[in-house]
Amino acid sequence: MNLNVLILPGDGIGPEVTREAVRVLNRVADKFGHTVKTREALLGGIAIHKTGGPFPAETETLCLECDATLMGAVGLPEFDDAPPEKRPEKGLLGIRKAMGVFANLRPVRAYEALIESSPLKNALVEGTDMIIVRELTGGIYYGTPRGVSGEGAGERAVNTMTYTRAEIERVARMAFELARNRRKKLTSVDKSNVIENSQLWRRVVVEVARDFPDVTLDHLLVDNAAMQLVLNPRRFDVMVTENMFGDILSDEGAVLAGSIGMLPSASIGARRPSGVWVGLYEPVHGSAPDIAGQNKANPLGAIGSVAAMLEYSFNLKEEAAAVNRAMETVLNSGRVTADLKPKGVPATTGQVGQGVCEAI
Ligand code: NAD
Repeated sequence: MNLNVLILPGDGIGPEVTREAVRVLNRVADKFGHTVKTREALLGGIAIHKTGGPFPAETETLCLECDATLMGAVGLPEFDDAPPEKRPEKGLLGIRKAMGVFANLRPVRAYEALIESSPLKNALVEGTDMIIVRELTGGIYYGTPRGVSGEGAGERAVNTMTYTRAEIERVARMAFELARNRRKKLTSVDKSNVIENSQLWRRVVVEVARDFPDVTLDHLLVDNAAMQLVLNPRRFDVMVTENMFGDILSDEGAVLAGSIGMLPSASIGARRPSGVWVGLYEPVHGSAPDIAGQNKANPLGAIGSVAAMLEYSFNLKEEAAAVNRAMETVLNSGRVTADLKPKGVPATTGQVGQGVCEAI
Protein backbone atom coordinates (compact mmCIF):
# COMPACT_ATOMS: atom_id res chain seq x y z
CA MET A 1 0.00 0.00 0.00
CA ASN A 2 1.15 3.58 -0.65
CA LEU A 3 0.85 5.78 2.41
CA ASN A 4 0.88 9.50 1.56
CA VAL A 5 1.28 11.34 4.82
CA LEU A 6 1.56 15.05 5.52
CA ILE A 7 3.83 15.92 8.45
CA LEU A 8 3.29 19.15 10.36
CA PRO A 9 6.08 19.30 12.97
CA GLY A 10 4.85 22.64 14.40
CA ASP A 11 6.47 24.32 17.40
CA GLY A 12 8.45 23.55 20.55
CA ILE A 13 8.86 19.79 21.04
CA GLY A 14 6.64 19.14 17.97
CA PRO A 15 9.57 18.62 15.55
CA GLU A 16 11.38 16.37 18.06
CA VAL A 17 8.47 14.00 18.66
CA THR A 18 7.28 13.91 15.03
CA ARG A 19 10.81 13.01 13.88
CA GLU A 20 10.62 9.83 15.99
CA ALA A 21 7.03 9.14 14.92
CA VAL A 22 8.05 9.32 11.24
CA ARG A 23 10.97 6.98 11.89
CA VAL A 24 8.56 4.48 13.41
CA LEU A 25 6.13 4.91 10.49
CA ASN A 26 8.93 4.15 8.02
CA ARG A 27 10.10 1.15 10.04
CA VAL A 28 6.66 -0.45 10.33
CA ALA A 29 5.91 0.23 6.65
CA ASP A 30 9.20 -1.35 5.68
CA LYS A 31 8.50 -4.43 7.76
CA PHE A 32 5.02 -4.95 6.29
CA GLY A 33 5.93 -4.03 2.68
CA HIS A 34 4.25 -0.62 2.35
CA THR A 35 5.66 2.51 0.75
CA VAL A 36 5.60 5.76 2.71
CA LYS A 37 5.72 9.13 1.01
CA THR A 38 5.89 12.01 3.47
CA ARG A 39 5.58 15.70 2.74
CA GLU A 40 6.21 18.42 5.27
CA ALA A 41 4.40 21.74 5.75
CA LEU A 42 4.10 24.62 8.19
CA LEU A 43 1.51 25.08 10.94
CA GLY A 44 1.41 27.22 14.07
CA GLY A 45 4.07 29.64 15.32
CA ILE A 46 6.67 28.62 12.78
CA ALA A 47 4.14 29.27 10.01
CA ILE A 48 3.49 32.77 11.40
CA HIS A 49 7.22 33.46 11.37
CA LYS A 50 7.70 32.22 7.82
CA THR A 51 4.45 33.21 6.09
CA GLY A 52 2.66 35.71 8.34
CA GLY A 53 -0.23 33.38 9.25
CA PRO A 54 -0.67 30.16 11.32
CA PHE A 55 -2.34 28.07 8.57
CA PRO A 56 -0.79 28.85 5.17
CA ALA A 57 -2.73 28.09 1.97
CA GLU A 58 -0.09 25.55 0.92
CA THR A 59 -0.63 23.57 4.14
CA GLU A 60 -4.38 23.60 3.48
CA THR A 61 -3.90 22.24 -0.05
CA LEU A 62 -1.53 19.52 1.12
CA CYS A 63 -3.70 18.31 4.02
CA LEU A 64 -6.54 17.78 1.57
CA GLU A 65 -4.29 15.97 -0.94
CA CYS A 66 -2.56 13.56 1.46
CA ASP A 67 -4.18 10.38 2.84
CA ALA A 68 -3.55 11.40 6.46
CA THR A 69 -1.89 14.17 8.47
CA LEU A 70 0.44 13.83 11.45
CA MET A 71 0.94 16.91 13.60
CA GLY A 72 3.42 17.62 16.42
CA ALA A 73 2.15 20.52 18.50
CA VAL A 74 1.63 24.25 18.08
CA GLY A 75 2.17 27.17 20.44
CA LEU A 76 5.02 29.52 21.33
CA PRO A 77 5.15 31.74 24.43
CA GLU A 78 6.04 34.81 22.32
CA PHE A 79 2.51 34.73 20.85
CA ASP A 80 0.72 34.54 24.21
CA ASP A 81 -0.46 38.16 23.96
CA ALA A 82 -1.04 38.21 20.19
CA PRO A 83 -4.54 38.83 18.77
CA PRO A 84 -6.53 35.60 18.08
CA GLU A 85 -5.86 35.66 14.30
CA LYS A 86 -2.11 35.75 14.91
CA ARG A 87 -1.94 32.93 17.43
CA PRO A 88 -0.46 29.52 16.57
CA GLU A 89 -3.51 27.74 18.04
CA LYS A 90 -5.67 29.40 15.37
CA GLY A 91 -3.85 27.16 12.89
CA LEU A 92 -5.13 24.10 14.70
CA LEU A 93 -8.74 25.26 14.51
CA GLY A 94 -8.17 26.14 10.84
CA ILE A 95 -6.86 22.73 9.85
CA ARG A 96 -9.58 20.88 11.76
CA LYS A 97 -12.18 22.93 9.92
CA ALA A 98 -10.50 22.51 6.51
CA MET A 99 -10.31 18.72 6.92
CA GLY A 100 -13.85 18.52 8.27
CA VAL A 101 -12.84 16.39 11.24
CA PHE A 102 -15.69 16.23 13.73
CA ALA A 103 -14.70 13.61 16.31
CA ASN A 104 -11.64 13.54 18.53
CA LEU A 105 -10.66 10.06 19.65
CA ARG A 106 -8.44 9.68 22.68
CA PRO A 107 -7.42 6.16 23.56
CA VAL A 108 -6.67 5.86 27.29
CA ARG A 109 -4.64 2.84 28.32
CA ALA A 110 -2.97 1.97 31.58
CA TYR A 111 0.30 0.31 30.61
CA GLU A 112 1.51 -2.29 33.09
CA ALA A 113 4.97 -0.69 33.26
CA LEU A 114 3.52 2.75 34.07
CA ILE A 115 1.05 1.82 36.77
CA GLU A 116 3.31 3.43 39.36
CA SER A 117 3.32 6.71 37.38
CA SER A 118 -0.43 7.23 37.78
CA PRO A 119 -1.39 9.19 40.91
CA LEU A 120 -4.32 6.78 41.36
CA LYS A 121 -4.13 3.48 43.26
CA ASN A 122 -2.75 0.67 41.08
CA ALA A 123 -5.73 -1.62 41.65
CA LEU A 124 -8.07 1.05 40.26
CA VAL A 125 -6.09 1.81 37.12
CA GLU A 126 -4.86 -1.66 36.14
CA GLY A 127 -6.49 -3.00 32.99
CA THR A 128 -7.96 0.34 31.85
CA ASP A 129 -8.37 0.35 28.07
CA MET A 130 -10.90 2.81 26.70
CA ILE A 131 -11.48 5.41 23.99
CA ILE A 132 -13.05 8.78 24.69
CA VAL A 133 -14.84 10.16 21.63
CA ARG A 134 -15.33 13.92 21.87
CA GLU A 135 -17.53 15.81 19.38
CA LEU A 136 -15.24 18.48 17.96
CA THR A 137 -17.10 21.03 15.90
CA GLY A 138 -20.31 21.92 17.76
CA GLY A 139 -21.59 22.78 21.21
CA ILE A 140 -20.87 25.77 23.40
CA TYR A 141 -17.42 26.53 21.91
CA TYR A 142 -18.96 27.49 18.58
CA GLY A 143 -22.64 28.32 19.25
CA THR A 144 -24.07 31.80 18.72
CA PRO A 145 -25.18 34.19 20.10
CA ARG A 146 -22.04 34.65 22.15
CA GLY A 147 -20.23 37.61 23.65
CA VAL A 148 -20.06 40.09 26.50
CA SER A 149 -22.32 43.12 26.75
CA GLY A 150 -23.31 45.83 29.21
CA GLU A 151 -21.24 47.20 32.03
CA GLY A 152 -20.96 47.49 35.80
CA ALA A 153 -23.11 45.09 37.78
CA GLY A 154 -25.15 44.42 34.65
CA GLU A 155 -22.21 43.28 32.51
CA ARG A 156 -23.29 40.00 31.00
CA ALA A 157 -21.62 37.13 29.14
CA VAL A 158 -23.49 34.70 26.89
CA ASN A 159 -22.52 31.43 25.23
CA THR A 160 -24.85 29.10 23.42
CA MET A 161 -24.74 25.33 23.48
CA THR A 162 -26.16 24.16 20.21
CA TYR A 163 -26.31 20.83 18.36
CA THR A 164 -28.28 19.63 15.39
CA ARG A 165 -29.65 16.12 15.08
CA ALA A 166 -27.25 15.50 12.17
CA GLU A 167 -24.19 16.53 14.20
CA ILE A 168 -25.13 14.20 17.06
CA GLU A 169 -25.99 11.34 14.74
CA ARG A 170 -22.69 11.29 12.85
CA VAL A 171 -20.51 11.25 15.97
CA ALA A 172 -22.77 8.69 17.67
CA ARG A 173 -22.56 6.43 14.62
CA MET A 174 -18.78 6.63 14.62
CA ALA A 175 -18.64 5.78 18.33
CA PHE A 176 -20.95 2.78 17.85
CA GLU A 177 -18.74 1.54 15.00
CA LEU A 178 -15.65 1.83 17.19
CA ALA A 179 -17.38 -0.04 20.01
CA ARG A 180 -18.52 -2.73 17.59
CA ASN A 181 -14.86 -3.49 16.81
CA ARG A 182 -13.84 -3.56 20.49
CA ARG A 183 -15.68 -4.86 23.57
CA LYS A 184 -19.08 -3.73 22.20
CA LYS A 185 -19.94 -1.32 25.00
CA LEU A 186 -20.77 2.35 24.49
CA THR A 187 -21.35 4.91 27.25
CA SER A 188 -22.99 8.17 26.19
CA VAL A 189 -22.38 11.09 28.54
CA ASP A 190 -24.76 14.06 28.81
CA LYS A 191 -26.56 16.30 31.29
CA SER A 192 -30.08 15.45 30.22
CA ASN A 193 -31.55 16.01 33.68
CA VAL A 194 -30.94 19.76 33.26
CA ILE A 195 -30.30 20.86 29.66
CA GLU A 196 -32.44 20.44 26.56
CA ASN A 197 -29.38 20.10 24.39
CA SER A 198 -28.47 16.90 26.23
CA GLN A 199 -32.06 15.66 25.98
CA LEU A 200 -31.79 15.82 22.17
CA TRP A 201 -28.32 14.22 22.41
CA ARG A 202 -29.69 11.26 24.38
CA ARG A 203 -32.75 10.84 22.14
CA VAL A 204 -30.62 10.72 18.98
CA VAL A 205 -28.05 8.34 20.50
CA VAL A 206 -30.88 5.95 21.48
CA GLU A 207 -32.25 6.11 17.91
CA VAL A 208 -28.82 5.35 16.39
CA ALA A 209 -28.45 2.41 18.81
CA ARG A 210 -31.21 0.56 16.91
CA ASP A 211 -28.73 0.07 14.05
CA PHE A 212 -26.18 -1.48 16.43
CA PRO A 213 -28.04 -4.21 18.32
CA ASP A 214 -24.73 -5.95 19.06
CA VAL A 215 -23.45 -2.95 21.09
CA THR A 216 -24.64 -2.39 24.66
CA LEU A 217 -25.45 1.27 25.28
CA ASP A 218 -25.64 2.99 28.63
CA HIS A 219 -25.94 6.64 29.64
CA LEU A 220 -24.19 8.58 32.37
CA LEU A 221 -24.72 12.14 33.52
CA VAL A 222 -21.48 14.07 33.10
CA ASP A 223 -20.96 14.67 36.83
CA ASN A 224 -21.25 10.95 37.53
CA ALA A 225 -19.03 10.16 34.51
CA ALA A 226 -16.29 12.38 35.96
CA MET A 227 -16.51 10.40 39.18
CA GLN A 228 -16.66 6.95 37.54
CA LEU A 229 -13.56 7.72 35.44
CA VAL A 230 -11.45 7.74 38.58
CA LEU A 231 -13.50 5.30 40.69
CA ASN A 232 -13.81 2.51 38.14
CA PRO A 233 -12.18 3.33 34.78
CA ARG A 234 -12.20 -0.34 33.73
CA ARG A 235 -15.98 -0.22 33.33
CA PHE A 236 -15.57 1.86 30.15
CA ASP A 237 -14.94 0.65 26.61
CA VAL A 238 -15.97 3.57 24.35
CA MET A 239 -17.35 6.82 25.77
CA VAL A 240 -19.00 9.42 23.52
CA THR A 241 -19.85 12.96 24.52
CA GLU A 242 -20.28 16.53 23.31
CA ASN A 243 -17.46 19.03 22.85
CA MET A 244 -17.03 20.72 26.24
CA PHE A 245 -17.81 17.64 28.36
CA GLY A 246 -15.31 15.71 26.21
CA ASP A 247 -12.67 18.40 26.58
CA ILE A 248 -12.83 18.11 30.36
CA LEU A 249 -13.30 14.34 30.67
CA SER A 250 -10.49 13.50 28.25
CA ASP A 251 -7.99 15.47 30.34
CA GLU A 252 -9.21 13.58 33.40
CA GLY A 253 -8.62 10.39 31.40
CA ALA A 254 -5.06 11.58 30.73
CA VAL A 255 -4.22 11.16 34.41
CA LEU A 256 -4.86 7.43 34.14
CA ALA A 257 -2.03 6.96 31.63
CA GLY A 258 0.68 8.36 33.89
CA SER A 259 2.07 11.17 31.71
CA ILE A 260 0.58 13.55 29.19
CA GLY A 261 3.50 12.65 26.91
CA MET A 262 2.01 9.15 26.50
CA LEU A 263 -1.32 10.12 25.00
CA PRO A 264 -2.13 9.89 21.30
CA SER A 265 -5.18 11.37 19.61
CA ALA A 266 -6.99 11.10 16.33
CA SER A 267 -9.37 13.66 14.88
CA ILE A 268 -11.61 11.91 12.41
CA GLY A 269 -13.94 13.16 9.70
CA ALA A 270 -16.03 11.66 6.97
CA ARG A 271 -15.35 8.23 5.52
CA ARG A 272 -13.53 8.14 2.19
CA PRO A 273 -15.10 6.08 -0.62
CA SER A 274 -12.60 3.32 0.28
CA GLY A 275 -14.20 3.04 3.72
CA VAL A 276 -11.36 4.54 5.76
CA TRP A 277 -11.62 7.76 7.73
CA VAL A 278 -10.11 11.18 6.95
CA GLY A 279 -7.83 11.84 9.89
CA LEU A 280 -5.58 14.33 11.65
CA TYR A 281 -3.31 12.61 14.17
CA GLU A 282 -1.46 14.34 16.99
CA PRO A 283 -0.24 13.72 20.51
CA VAL A 284 -2.48 15.25 23.17
CA HIS A 285 0.31 17.35 24.69
CA GLY A 286 1.22 20.89 23.68
CA SER A 287 4.55 22.32 22.50
CA ALA A 288 6.13 22.13 26.00
CA PRO A 289 8.40 25.18 25.59
CA ASP A 290 10.01 24.38 28.97
CA ILE A 291 11.74 21.28 27.54
CA ALA A 292 11.89 22.11 23.82
CA GLY A 293 15.18 21.49 22.00
CA GLN A 294 16.61 19.34 24.81
CA ASN A 295 15.93 15.85 23.39
CA LYS A 296 13.94 15.15 26.57
CA ALA A 297 10.37 14.97 25.28
CA ASN A 298 8.49 11.69 25.41
CA PRO A 299 7.72 10.74 21.78
CA LEU A 300 5.29 7.92 22.64
CA GLY A 301 2.17 10.12 22.31
CA ALA A 302 3.25 10.97 18.76
CA ILE A 303 4.23 7.35 18.04
CA GLY A 304 0.87 6.14 19.40
CA SER A 305 -0.74 8.64 17.01
CA VAL A 306 0.99 6.82 14.14
CA ALA A 307 -0.61 3.58 15.38
CA ALA A 308 -4.00 5.31 15.36
CA MET A 309 -3.33 6.59 11.82
CA LEU A 310 -2.50 3.09 10.58
CA GLU A 311 -5.72 1.77 12.08
CA TYR A 312 -8.25 4.48 11.21
CA SER A 313 -6.93 6.08 8.01
CA PHE A 314 -5.32 3.02 6.39
CA ASN A 315 -7.23 0.14 7.99
CA LEU A 316 -3.86 -1.52 8.75
CA LYS A 317 -4.77 -3.13 12.06
CA GLU A 318 -1.87 -5.57 12.24
CA GLU A 319 0.63 -2.78 11.62
CA ALA A 320 -1.05 -0.61 14.29
CA ALA A 321 -0.87 -3.50 16.75
CA ALA A 322 2.84 -3.96 15.94
CA VAL A 323 3.52 -0.33 16.87
CA ASN A 324 1.52 -0.63 20.09
CA ARG A 325 3.31 -3.83 21.06
CA ALA A 326 6.70 -2.24 20.36
CA MET A 327 5.79 0.72 22.58
CA GLU A 328 4.90 -1.69 25.34
CA THR A 329 8.23 -3.52 24.91
CA VAL A 330 10.10 -0.23 25.26
CA LEU A 331 8.09 0.73 28.35
CA ASN A 332 8.78 -2.65 29.93
CA SER A 333 12.50 -2.27 29.20
CA GLY A 334 12.63 0.96 31.23
CA ARG A 335 14.16 2.88 28.31
CA VAL A 336 11.85 5.86 28.92
CA THR A 337 12.11 9.65 29.07
CA ALA A 338 12.37 11.71 32.26
CA ASP A 339 8.60 12.32 32.59
CA LEU A 340 8.23 8.56 33.25
CA LYS A 341 11.47 8.11 35.16
CA PRO A 342 11.85 10.32 38.22
CA LYS A 343 14.91 8.30 39.35
CA GLY A 344 17.88 6.97 37.37
CA VAL A 345 19.18 8.03 33.97
CA PRO A 346 16.33 8.73 31.55
CA ALA A 347 16.45 7.92 27.84
CA THR A 348 16.43 10.70 25.24
CA THR A 349 13.63 11.32 22.76
CA GLY A 350 15.77 9.75 20.04
CA GLN A 351 16.64 6.67 22.11
CA VAL A 352 12.96 5.95 22.79
CA GLY A 353 12.15 6.27 19.05
CA GLN A 354 15.08 4.01 18.22
CA GLY A 355 13.90 1.49 20.82
CA VAL A 356 10.42 1.34 19.28
CA CYS A 357 11.93 0.83 15.80
CA GLU A 358 14.13 -1.99 17.08
CA ALA A 359 11.19 -3.66 18.84
CA ILE A 360 9.16 -3.56 15.61
P1 NAD B 1 2.07 21.26 27.40
O1 NAD B 1 1.33 19.99 27.12
O2 NAD B 1 2.89 21.79 26.29
O3 NAD B 1 3.01 21.06 28.67
C1 NAD B 1 2.51 20.78 29.97
C2 NAD B 1 3.60 20.09 30.81
O4 NAD B 1 3.77 18.75 30.35
C3 NAD B 1 4.96 20.75 30.69
O5 NAD B 1 5.62 20.67 31.91
C4 NAD B 1 5.70 19.92 29.66
O6 NAD B 1 7.10 19.91 29.81
C5 NAD B 1 5.11 18.54 29.91
N1 NAD B 1 5.05 17.76 28.67
C6 NAD B 1 4.21 17.95 27.61
N2 NAD B 1 4.46 17.09 26.63
C7 NAD B 1 5.48 16.32 27.07
C8 NAD B 1 6.20 15.25 26.48
N3 NAD B 1 5.93 14.76 25.26
N4 NAD B 1 7.21 14.71 27.19
C9 NAD B 1 7.51 15.15 28.42
N5 NAD B 1 6.86 16.15 29.02
C10 NAD B 1 5.86 16.75 28.36
O7 NAD B 1 0.96 22.33 27.84
P2 NAD B 1 1.14 23.89 28.16
O8 NAD B 1 2.43 24.14 28.83
O9 NAD B 1 -0.13 24.28 28.81
O10 NAD B 1 1.15 24.60 26.73
C11 NAD B 1 2.36 24.97 26.02
C12 NAD B 1 1.95 25.49 24.65
O11 NAD B 1 1.35 24.45 23.89
C13 NAD B 1 0.92 26.63 24.69
O12 NAD B 1 1.28 27.56 23.69
C14 NAD B 1 -0.38 25.94 24.35
O13 NAD B 1 -1.31 26.81 23.74
C15 NAD B 1 0.08 24.88 23.39
N6 NAD B 1 -0.80 23.69 23.29
C16 NAD B 1 -0.93 23.14 22.06
C17 NAD B 1 -1.66 21.99 21.91
C18 NAD B 1 -1.74 21.37 20.54
O14 NAD B 1 -0.93 21.68 19.69
N7 NAD B 1 -2.66 20.46 20.31
C19 NAD B 1 -2.28 21.36 23.02
C20 NAD B 1 -2.09 21.94 24.28
C21 NAD B 1 -1.35 23.11 24.40
